Parts: sequence; structure tokens; C-alpha cells
Amino acid sequence: MSGKDNIIIAKSAGFCPGVKRAIECVLELEAQGHKPIYTLGPLIHNKQVTDSLEAKGIKEIESLEEAKDKNGVLVIRAHGITPAFQKEIMDYGMKVVDATCLLVKKVHNVIEEYAKKGYDTVIVGDSKHAEVIGLMGYTQNKGIVVGSIEEAQHLPHFEKVNVVSQTTQKEATFLEIANIIKQKSKICNISNTICQPTKQRQTETTKCAKDADLVVVVGGHHSANTARLAKLCSDLCKNVIHVETSKDIEPQIIVNSKKIFITAGASTPISLVEEVANYIKTLKGEK
Ligand code: SF4
Repeated sequence: MSGKDNIIIAKSAGFCPGVKRAIECVLELEAQGHKPIYTLGPLIHNKQVTDSLEAKGIKEIESLEEAKDKNGVLVIRAHGITPAFQKEIMDYGMKVVDATCLLVKKVHNVIEEYAKKGYDTVIVGDSKHAEVIGLMGYTQNKGIVVGSIEEAQHLPHFEKVNVVSQTTQKEATFLEIANIIKQKSKICNISNTICQPTKQRQTETTKCAKDADLVVVVGGHHSANTARLAKLCSDLCKNVIHVETSKDIEPQIIVNSKKIFITAGASTPISLVEEVANYIKTLKGEK
């Protein structure tokens, strides 16, 4: 941790390596003069960042048909996509740059390896999340998504099953669900595919949030990993606020709190964390 007095800023705050790589990738394409640059879905769930990318001519599209100018470049974002969609994109006739996070690709490989050996796949995660939709594409149509312990309890018996996780899941929940599935299965392989940056963020958050009077979670309101981080903090500290920028902060809550822990989701730029931290320090008379 870094910080002064009673304001602590998480070391793990800021872009995760996958998001950082995807952003650097589009900025490099832009610097090379490629135009237009299309990203399939938002590159990152942070409005401040997507607005600045849009200002540089980097366009977010929801479907392939929206990529009208075939002289442009299509960028696959860090979440990854299904092999079928990958093929469709390759056949579309445009330059494609794959910015799928290498740690997500590792999950694709684990799912594929076991699916080829006849295993069913259970993915612990959010069925609507783009990463999970992509992972399902590697299960050879023998995949199920489980979002909670209750859902896991209702799963059938499996002869052979491979249990994997969305990369940003809470580890304790994943392990509990995996154990329930193991009890129901003849052969069960548990692949803990929560990525290392997420594990580090969760470990640091768990350690610091329980000692804090207030936790400030910085990140987009539409970011699933930021929302999950805020939920993790709420289980450990009774005062948690989720803010996008310092404008969302009610000064009195800062004034009333002695020990403040500031953390952020994987899609939050460090500049926003610093902006929030500077505002809090100003309120505390530290600047
Ligand atoms: S959260 Fe982990 S797996 Fe997902 S993009 Fe970031 S580093 Fe990659």
C-alpha cells in the first residue's frame, strides 16, 4: 500500500494488464494513421476513457454490420469472443487486430482441452458478460454457466466435468461452487482460472477494507468488475461508496471518516484514482 496518514491507496488500483494492452493497441493503431478503428463493444467499461477514445475517432460498434468502412480496422477487445464469431470477423474482409487478454486466452485453451476429451464445462460467472459468452464458444456445446451457490446446488450429476471461472470472479465463491460440483460428479477437474491481477486486487482489498472506516471504490457504474469489488468491500466495511469521479463524493462522509481506503476496478485509469485521492486529501487538509 501507499499513502499518507490515514488515506490509503490500493497498490493494485489502475488498469489490469489486459485492459492496458487493449488500450495501448488501439492508440498505437490510431498513431499509425489507421482510420476508422472499430471496437466490437466498449473497449473498457469506463465512460471517461471511452469518451476520450471516441474523440480520437475510435468507434464502438455492437455488430459487424456497423463496420461500414472496410478500409478500417476491427479490434477484438480484451474479453475475447467465440471461435465462430472470430471466423465471421476474419471472413468479413477487414484488417482485424486481436486484443484478447492473454489470460482470457489461457481459459479458452483450458476449456477446449477438456471439451475435446469429452468433459462437460461449468463456467462460474455472469452468463451475460462478454467474456463468458466468449468462453461458452469453446465448450463444444456442452457448457453451463453458474452464477451462484444456489444455482450450483441445482446442477445435475456429471460423469466428467471441467469447472472454470470467469477471470474476475470472487475466489472464495468460485471454490465453494467448484466443491459443490465435485460432490455431484464422478470425475471433476477444477481449473481456477481467476486471473492473477484479480487475485492480487482481491487479496489487497480484503486486507485493507476491513480496517477502514470508509472505502472509496473508483470505477465506471457499468463496470461489472468494479461493482464486484464494491460488493466485496461492503462485506468487510460498513461504509463503502462507488464513485466515477470526485464529483460523486459527498464531502461530509470524507470529513467524518478517519481511515479511508481508496481502491479501483480493473477498468479504471490511474489518473481517475489520483483525481479522487487528491480531492479527498484536499478535504482532509493534506494538500
Ligand atoms: S481482468 Fe485479468 S483476465 Fe481480464 S482483462 Fe484484466 S488481466 Fe486479463
